[in-house]
Amino acid sequence: MKFLEKVCSIPTAPFAEGFVARYVRSFVKARPKLRLRRDGAGNLLIELPSTSRLPRWVFTAHMDHPGMVAGRMAGKDVLEADFRGWVHVDYVRGAKVRFFNDTGAGWEEVTGRVIEAAAEEDDRLLVPSKVKVRVSRPVAAGSPGMFDLGEGRVRGKRFYCRCCDDLAGVAGALTMLDALLRRPPQSPVAVLLTRGEEEGMIGAVAAAKKPVLLRKSDRLVAIETSARQPHAPLGAGAIIRIGDKSSIFDSSLCYFMTRQAEALAKKDSTFKFHRSLMPGGTCEATVYDVYGFMTGSICVALGNYHNMDREKRKLGAEYIDIDDWKNMVKLFVHLARMGHEYEPGHKLLKERIEQRFNRLAPLLG
Ligand SMILES: [Zn+2]
Repeated sequence: MKFLEKVCSIPTAPFAEGFVARYVRSFVKARPKLRLRRDGAGNLLIELPSTSRLPRWVFTAHMDHPGMVAGRMAGKDVLEADFRGWVHVDYVRGAKVRFFNDTGAGWEEVTGRVIEAAAEEDDRLLVPSKVKVRVSRPVAAGSPGMFDLGEGRVRGKRFYCRCCDDLAGVAGALTMLDALLRRPPQSPVAVLLTRGEEEGMIGAVAAAKKPVLLRKSDRLVAIETSARQPHAPLGAGAIIRIGDKSSIFDSSLCYFMTRQAEALAKKDSTFKFHRSLMPGGTCEATVYDVYGFMTGSICVALGNYHNMDREKRKLGAEYIDIDDWKNMVKLFVHLARMGHEYEPGHKLLKERIEQRFNRLAPLLG
């Protein structure tokens, strides 16, 4: 839980993930056993030490969230900024926002209000690309800007923040690493943190197209918070996400994850999960799949996806169920520990099917 509030409260935006990256560097520095690598795109890989030659399990999350990147000041209190990520322009016009100037050790917050939002690119008629913001103080070019919806806070069973997608995923991955450091698993385990997901999974494509940090033998688990669905509400547990809006993920890996989740539920009566196709958006697992990696995905259901409260038709903090998130982390840790048992292909499922077949085949006559 401590990472959930802390990490989700870090300012970020697509292509302006520097504060999150800085936090990750300090996290690794404080844990001398971990190793941190970076590729040319600025994606980060945190590795647990391992001497094992078994295939590696890589849990991936993205470090950005829909928001703005500061451009130049046009006059003393008007900032021009790029808007990045999919948010309907009606929500952006007039929005209260906050920009974050880098102070070296942290950030200085600058409040503002969107006074102009233009949706001008042909393929994104409903999504702003450029905004003008009236700001209380000058903002340095390149600084991230976010909707002013507050830092992470717990209210009852829910966690609210201006950003859950996907810093709640990053927080889950870091929490898992701490648990694994106490008792290392047999398989090598790493965490890949990517950039620019909200603009078309740009960091993940860079990581998959010419892999520097990834290996073709990796088993990938893409972590997300994903727009809740009628069949996947908040509070129903961790979700083994078998597919998204664009593709479905590795069947045998998803089956292994499901069997492991079932085993975990037998041991731990508080653990809840379900399998679901989450069609609210396309996630990085699709990219890894497209580039030939073996990929599954785990997520939690998200309220106010991309800060759009569609019932009230206004901006709202994103929110998740705290127990869902805790269950998601439990599943990461369990999978990391049991990953060495995974064999690609459907041997396991075929055995189960054939057991029954052999027993009942005589009934076919
Ligand atoms: Zn996301």
